[in-house]
Amino acid sequence: MYDFLVVGAGPSGSRFARSAAEAGRDVLVLESGEIGRPLACSGHVSLDVWEFVPDDARDRLRQNEIYGARFHLGGADSPSHPFYKETVVSNAIDRVGLDETLAECAREVGATVRTGHTVTGVTERTDRVEIEANGPDGIERFEAKLVCGADGPRSRVRSQLGLPEPDELLHGVLGFDPEPDHDDFVDVHLTVPRFFAWRIPRGEAGVEYGLAVEPGEDASGRFEELVADYGADIDRRCSGAIPIGPPDRTTGRRSFLVGDAAGQTKPFTGGGILYGMRAADVAARTIDPERPSTTEEYERAWRSELGRDQTIGKVIRAGYSLPEPIQRAGMRAFSGEIGVHMDRPTSLFSTEQLRAMLSWK
Ligand SMILES: Cc1cc2nc3c(=O)[nH]c(=O)nc-3n(C[C@H](O)[C@H](O)[C@H](O)COP(=O)(O)OP(=O)(O)OC[C@H]3O[C@@H](n4cnc5c(N)ncnc54)[C@H](O)[C@@H]3O)c2cc1C
Repeated sequence: MYDFLVVGAGPSGSRFARSAAEAGRDVLVLESGEIGRPLACSGHVSLDVWEFVPDDARDRLRQNEIYGARFHLGGADSPSHPFYKETVVSNAIDRVGLDETLAECAREVGATVRTGHTVTGVTERTDRVEIEANGPDGIERFEAKLVCGADGPRSRVRSQLGLPEPDELLHGVLGFDPEPDHDDFVDVHLTVPRFFAWRIPRGEAGVEYGLAVEPGEDASGRFEELVADYGADIDRRCSGAIPIGPPDRTTGRRSFLVGDAAGQTKPFTGGGILYGMRAADVAARTIDPERPSTTEEYERAWRSELGRDQTIGKVIRAGYSLPEPIQRAGMRAFSGEIGVHMDRPTSLFSTEQLRAMLSWK
């Protein structure tokens, strides 16, 4: 019987597996496909990501350094309002490589990671959890003291255990133009209802175009308009779901969710790589497999770690739907150098942000 069976080897599952195995737990990770594939993510992350991978992985994973974002209320040729720092704010990274690196880190400290195993059944018993998976040799059964659902936005673990769904699931679409681009800025277009479209220069890896929309909106049609507007030549595309708004509960009697499965994303960008890994560390620190009731401690602790940033993130997202004249006035008033940390909107109220605002007025 394993201490923890982790479903999903994305950033959240692999990070939890690594942290739990480092703490001496016996951990099995089951991943349905190959690690990191298929890609459905921009891999645009704050520099905090480097705290989670070995130093020697940086050069391999980093594709481009970003200093800020140009916000547009219209399309490619519309006026832009830059928000930036004098130093690097974020990186575009190789997301498949990140997942492979994190899974390797988990293996190195003793976790077992098996690919090609799709979890199809999860049953909580009084003294254990029973997990059924479909693998290369057919149906296999496993037992663990607790199950960690790190299986992404459409979590099977969540639905099997009857845990509530996130508030929303946006539909994200991405496409890549192979032409290298080392620009320092991403472009953000507030042209999509209640969210945005983007252009990310990825160095030698080309340029990524993308957007996310609510269910019922025409994601493909809007994506075609975006790339036509830029005159981009897209050679491959992909799509994925983005959960916004964490469910009221993310834990069961012998179960807990991390990452997208738990809605641990930034409401104003949909970014979840770092929130998921931070929550995974909270889970490894707070949950004791011998005392399943410690999942309640995790429920409290991850909300205390991310909750305020998620609340302010929702307010920022509401700004995407304001009438255009108000958006334009806001952009003019606040664009320029910023002090805010992209994963921590609470830093909008920091002395660094205040200093940045005073220095350019
Ligand atoms: C279009 C788009 C762009 C994005 N851009 C960014 C960005 O720039 N920056 C950022 O921070 N975030 C971004 N995100 C969000 C980011 O991709 C997620 O927040 C992140 O992947 C969450 O990691 P995770 O480990 O929780 O889940 P996932 O990465 O989804 O990993 C879940 C894993 O579980 C596996 N799995 C699923 N079901 C089963 C099963 N039944 N059995 C076994 N395995 C299973 C999957 O194969 C997968 O490997 C983007 C998302 C989308 C859709």
